[in-house]
Amino acid sequence: MQKEPKNTQDSKKWMEPLFAGPYGENNDLFESVILEHFREHFYWRRNFHPSDLPAIDTASEYDQSYQLTTSRMKRELHKLSAKLKHSVPFFHPRYMGHMASDLFLPGLIAQMMTLLYNPNNVSNEAGSETIDMELKVGEQFAQLFGFNTDEKHYPCAWGHLTSGGTVANIEALWNLRSGRFIGFALGHSTDELKIKLNKHKKSAKSIHEMNDWELFNLPLDISLGYWQQFMQLATTESQQQLFEATLNKYRPESLGLATFSQRYWTIKSPIVLVPSTAHYSWKKAAQLLGLGTEQMVKVPVDRHMRMDYEALERILQQALVKQIPILAVVSVLGTTEFGTIDPVHEVVRLQQYFSEKGLYFPIHVDAAWGGYFATLFRKENGKNLSFAEASQSFSYFPSKETYAAITHLDKVDSITVDPHKLGYLPFGVGGVVFRNKLLCQIQEQKAAYVFDNRHAEKSFNDLGQFILEGSKPGAAAAAVYVSQQVTPLHNKAMGKIVAASIRNSEYFTDHFDAFKNKISAYAQVIMPVEPDTNLVTLSINPINNHSMAIANQFTRAIYQFLKVNPQRPVQTAEFLGSSTKLFRSNLTRAEATRLAMELSIDGKTFVEKVEDEKNQADFMFALRHTLMNPWIIQNQKGKNYIDMYLEYLGEIIQQVLLTEPFVSVCKPEVMTSGKKIKSASG
Ligand SMILES: *Cc1c(COP(=O)(O)O)cnc(C)c1O
Repeated sequence: MQKEPKNTQDSKKWMEPLFAGPYGENNDLFESVILEHFREHFYWRRNFHPSDLPAIDTASEYDQSYQLTTSRMKRELHKLSAKLKHSVPFFHPRYMGHMASDLFLPGLIAQMMTLLYNPNNVSNEAGSETIDMELKVGEQFAQLFGFNTDEKHYPCAWGHLTSGGTVANIEALWNLRSGRFIGFALGHSTDELKIKLNKHKKSAKSIHEMNDWELFNLPLDISLGYWQQFMQLATTESQQQLFEATLNKYRPESLGLATFSQRYWTIKSPIVLVPSTAHYSWKKAAQLLGLGTEQMVKVPVDRHMRMDYEALERILQQALVKQIPILAVVSVLGTTEFGTIDPVHEVVRLQQYFSEKGLYFPIHVDAAWGGYFATLFRKENGKNLSFAEASQSFSYFPSKETYAAITHLDKVDSITVDPHKLGYLPFGVGGVVFRNKLLCQIQEQKAAYVFDNRHAEKSFNDLGQFILEGSKPGAAAAAVYVSQQVTPLHNKAMGKIVAASIRNSEYFTDHFDAFKNKISAYAQVIMPVEPDTNLVTLSINPINNHSMAIANQFTRAIYQFLKVNPQRPVQTAEFLGSSTKLFRSNLTRAEATRLAMELSIDGKTFVEKVEDEKNQADFMFALRHTLMNPWIIQNQKGKNYIDMYLEYLGEIIQQVLLTEPFVSVCKPEVMTSGKKIKSASG
């Protein structure tokens, strides 16, 4: 039974000025605002010592070489403009491919404006205004996820912006690695310096009685608390230097992992657990941080392409028995390929359970895509919407699991979120939030007392010292800041834009059965993964075919029509999509059989190891649609873009069916006679 979405009556008018629009509908608005601020910038320049004589002579423009340089500049800019016309039209609802869409005007304009001033968010001296904005935005994200941001309570969260999700993930793992090894360094440094630390109130034992395994398994809040206590004992500068130098003797950050483990390490190499759907940035992180990809263990996913928490539990149980240290567990909130949501709540539960048994791990949530889904459940007053309230504006969303996962984000240790994805901002801006700010301070080893007074608080603004990147655009921070002032991160503002994207996929789902029936004489089509959010995948098998290899070939042939292809003018594309693969190795046998059957494929042709290339495949190819454009189901009298897309898809399916090798396999006379035939199996 389908529930009528309540908000369909809601006018989208309020959000109409927020995008340039597929047709450039808001060009006048954009032009007038931008012109005003460009002009202001030049007034600002002129008003800095207005009585200085101009460095560029006003008569220069009559000089021939001035003119030649000008024409050269114009020529190159025209060439650039011509090249850019071949760009991918992300802005248009006919673009349903990757995670990009029309841009959010307040942010876009803020960014263009700020570029002229060119602030650098590396340090207070280079970008104090925009660093304040960046840290404010970090705080807003922290609050969105439910972290404490009040300095008076421990732990206090801290977040900042990065160039993207990849860097955010790498930085998070870098910090988590430091945080995990700090307990060991503290245990040994306090011995060496003959210093006694008070027992942490949440710790069963004093740090001085712990072995290496116990030191490594200290929960972050406790080990960081000990670190703070230790650093606070250094009251003079020379003491502080001694403390730091002693700690460094026992830290992989100074020794390098190789020397560190040769010299001290008595336990096994720590591993990182990621779901098999994890983004490839995790592989980069493992390589860069010297862990090696061998230490990155993949947790299987279930039929919903969510991390299989029972499998995770089995791996953790083994780790406990064999004393394999777990550096971190990563969950994905909005997988890149399917938009699916890992059961963060179950991972949190397992953290608690294993922690009590002495096996601790911090949790990082890679919400590069899905971080903004939290706006759907966050009220203006900062409280969570109940499940019933959250479900009101949708037919299917959120599932119980999705709701539970997102409302447990406050329990995890760090989160990646990408404003340049579902924040609808120009590329070059990601973000990372840490539940415990101290985690970012141990890298730099700034003595804790430095952060305790107001003057020094500002020194935390010298961002470059605490984060992975150095020089970074203040313009990106301005973009996120202005966006979140115009459209705050709660369900009545940003949440409405994100909700529109979810409704796109619900509309798709609602019209999918009719589409399936309509083309059943030609092909079988399935959604191999039930959408958790706003990504939809489709796999297609032409009628009478039972081989996975041929079905993949067929879906791939369809994809040629939807693919960005530099060989053809982009204007000739009806619709643009993307593609993905479901690997057999990521599926259980039962799940693989179910998928094959649904598509009338012989299960024996969907295999883990291909022996017969003509018929077998170790993956299922799928069309992938990211439905984030806010105007996809905006009805302009009659059909919307999903109706039109499905119609188009039906046409190209018939067309491809008439080409080789499909025409031989599928007997086109059946089609041309218009007679419907039932699929042979299933
Ligand atoms: C996009 C994405 C990333 C990488 O982010 P970039 O901004 O492209 O560097 C990481 N994880 C997930 C889940 C993503 O969707």
